[in-house]
Amino acid sequence: MTSRWGSCTAKTRRIRLNAALEYCPRECLEYVVVHELAHLRENNHSPRFWAIVADALPDYKERQKKLKALSWLLNAKSSK
Ligand SMILES: [Zn+2]
Repeated sequence: MTSRWGSCTAKTRRIRLNAALEYCPRECLEYVVVHELAHLRENNHSPRFWAIVADALPDYKERQKKLKALSWLLNAKSSK
């Protein structure tokens, strides 16, 4: 599963995080990590997946909102 903030490959149990998370509050970083870790158990966005996320972070919806407000960081590409 892939989002612009992170991705998870369940098969290889590999999680990748967007470098822009370095500029996000810790609570948002935690949300992305928990989200990707939850994909190791549920490789989809089913209600069961969100139940796993909610179990770890009861306030995940608030964190989602904050992260959404920071999505401009994803477009602030580093020079290459
Ligand atoms: Zn996901």
